[in-house]
Amino acid sequence: EGLDVTYDGRVYTVRLLADPHAPAAEVLLPPDLPVEGKAFQQLAALAALHHPDGGRVKQVRATPDFHPGDSGVAIGSVVHTEGMVVPGAVGTDINCGMRLHVADIPVDAFLARRDAFVERMKGHCFFGTRDVAQGSRALEALLRDGLPGWLLETQENPLGMSARADLGQLDRESARVYLGGALEGDPSWAPTGLRREGVVRDPGLATIGGGNHFVEVQRVEAVVDRARARAWGVREGQLAFMVHSGSRDMGKHVGRTWQERVRAAWPASAPFPESGIFPLVDPEKVREYLKAEATAANYAFLNRLLLAELVRHTLRELFGDVEAPLVYDVPHNITLPWEGGWLARKGACPAEDEQPVIIPGSMGAESYLMRGLGNARALASASHGAGRARSRFSMSRGGAEHREEALGLTGVDCIALRAERRIEEAPAAYKPIGSVVGSQVEADIVREVARLRPLMTFKA
Ligand code: 5GP
Ligand code: MN
Ligand code: MN
Repeated sequence: EGLDVTYDGRVYTVRLLADPHAPAAEVLLPPDLPVEGKAFQQLAALAALHHPDGGRVKQVRATPDFHPGDSGVAIGSVVHTEGMVVPGAVGTDINCGMRLHVADIPVDAFLARRDAFVERMKGHCFFGTRDVAQGSRALEALLRDGLPGWLLETQENPLGMSARADLGQLDRESARVYLGGALEGDPSWAPTGLRREGVVRDPGLATIGGGNHFVEVQRVEAVVDRARARAWGVREGQLAFMVHSGSRDMGKHVGRTWQERVRAAWPASAPFPESGIFPLVDPEKVREYLKAEATAANYAFLNRLLLAELVRHTLRELFGDVEAPLVYDVPHNITLPWEGGWLARKGACPAEDEQPVIIPGSMGAESYLMRGLGNARALASASHGAGRARSRFSMSRGGAEHREEALGLTGVDCIALRAERRIEEAPAAYKPIGSVVGSQVEADIVREVARLRPLMTFKA
């Protein structure tokens, strides 16, 4: 409704009828995947954004896991702007992302100790048996400079579990974090309770968060690109684990504060954008916003690192001194400089040339390790998952089918803090990952490197 839509069998082109001069937005979507009108509306509105003082949207593209977003921007949107940034096109879970490790532990040996592993992880992830304490200088360095700054100021692992030697490993591994996990932030965004000198305890760090965030243990099921898998340290039959989490309350604070600020900065003489999405054009404010976003992003890099340390530590307790190296850590909600302007991704994984791309499926389907091809039409971006096909609400209410089989839960080992999570997050809530990934291979956005099968999933 109100949209001009065309489809060539693979790519939809959408534009607001009311705004024929706006750039057309594109969605890569194979014919067998579900389509939701609301997401198209949101995408077309994003492409039509403008500000009376200038700035423009150059290109908008959506990935095949695309579905409506709660705050007006569809999940799976990538927007290239010039002279303006759009905080709402990243959302409040700044630097939500995926982190993947592999470990040389035989899957049989791991499963034989399943219960011991689960008990320890439940304690760490749900019941706070860990204690995250660090110097205020380390936290400040993190927020200002990201992981390298944090490592310089950190003498021992803040989880108090590993020896100093492990910091050397963390240091080496920061090369496998997107942009080195080092963005230019502003430590004044630290929550008030954490701003004083001395040892600070941040209850939000090393926590998964609600919704579909997870820690999942997996098996490397198949290696397709042997050369790249070897270069990235990945072998068939290995144990793997994946962390999906973001910047927790820090991102919410930064995101909400700036969404209020952009609204307040909107010129009084211009009508409010119907979409509720406000761009920011004042160069000084743009700089300030990007620094705030980077601060929360730095925090998210450490949050995922510490969650992975919890898993690594637990594996070491049970299986001896395993290395469990990092394969890659990559954000899917972030604004970064792009061809003289900015690229904002909301639920899209960077897929730059030769870069690892992590595409999770669900707790009952395979996840994919891919390599990016830097496809310009796709704004060097791939899907960051399979994408929700059914809302949480439709999964849990209204006479929904709750049989394990219909939900795709047969054989799924989900350890959830809240019982309803199993149903809201059941495999049947997600699109078929094979088709989502296949369409992106066909469109020369990514190539497959390896597939991972879930063994157990922790969700709060
Ligand atoms: P989002 O970042 O939009 O919250 O979700 C990212 C993607 O994670 C979803 O589209 C879905 O494909 C994937 N996902 C959600 N839950 C799970 C899970 O428990 N395990 C795995 N492997 N993937 C999941
Ligand atoms: Mn998130
Ligand atoms: Mn996410």
